[in-house]
Amino acid sequence: MALDAYPLCFTPVFKERIWGGQRLRQWFPDCPEGVPIGEAWVLSDHPEGPTAIANGPYEGRYLHEVMQLEPAWFQGIQEERFPLLVKVIDAADDLSIQVHPDDAYGYAHAGERGKTECWWVLRAEPGAHIVYGHTAGSRLEFEQRVARGEWSELLRTVPVQAGDFVFVPAGKLHALGRGVMVLEIQQSSDTTYRVYDYDRVDKEGKRRPLHLQDALNVIRYPDLEVKDERRPLERPAGEHLVTCPYFSVDRWDIAGRETFAGQPLSILSVAAGHGTLRHESGFIDLRPGTQVLIPHGMSEWHLDGTLTVIRTILPR
Ligand code: ZN
Repeated sequence: MALDAYPLCFTPVFKERIWGGQRLRQWFPDCPEGVPIGEAWVLSDHPEGPTAIANGPYEGRYLHEVMQLEPAWFQGIQEERFPLLVKVIDAADDLSIQVHPDDAYGYAHAGERGKTECWWVLRAEPGAHIVYGHTAGSRLEFEQRVARGEWSELLRTVPVQAGDFVFVPAGKLHALGRGVMVLEIQQSSDTTYRVYDYDRVDKEGKRRPLHLQDALNVIRYPDLEVKDERRPLERPAGEHLVTCPYFSVDRWDIAGRETFAGQPLSILSVAAGHGTLRHESGFIDLRPGTQVLIPHGMSEWHLDGTLTVIRTILPR
């Protein structure tokens, strides 16, 4: 049964992580208390944490079911499962130094697609930084520095602040540092190869596994250079952030009212501010952390308020 297209909201799935904290509760009141929560999967069709619809006639159904019931809403998606995963990540402590495979390596070795991701920095404590790339000229040099534990020479660290944008293609060594909270838009994949975990142990005194061989196979030598593609947008005002084979991301700065119609399938992630999304059959309250999926070609809709929205579409 096909229904009139309407914007879909989602119920987040929370993930306990050794490096997590409690700050996601400020945005997501349902976030569990008393355990370190590192990630809220806010829009997901990944089997490790699918999100259910939180509004309208499809409330309680999973994204995957709606894709099957309403193929016209998802026009342009060839895959059976939704290809993107959106998270809000609270790094109360440093994340492990890691890298993700590309599609070819992911399908061959992990049974799923690779992971290219990007971060919009929502919050960063003074002095916060990320690890972004390495200094080794060759795989051999990389391996030697790992063997000698020369992490500070090997890793490139970059200071970050709220409002920064970071593109992390597959093969790029990276890690969020403590005190950083990001919106992450990524290929829907859960494959991470850990290179170094600061020798941390969990409650049971166990170290998390490392995956050095896979990591060495997928890291690029010398380091992968990433071009800054950002350029201003006119309507709505904002900035184009990146286009890659998996997603195209803009920042919209909404002040007042903007009207839209005939847009491609879009994910709206509210990064700051408050407002309302109005459409034919109702309205949605927008506040930091709200995710909305606008079905392909939905009839006229409006954004009202003072908002920073990260808007993601699939590249055509
Ligand atoms: Zn990552």
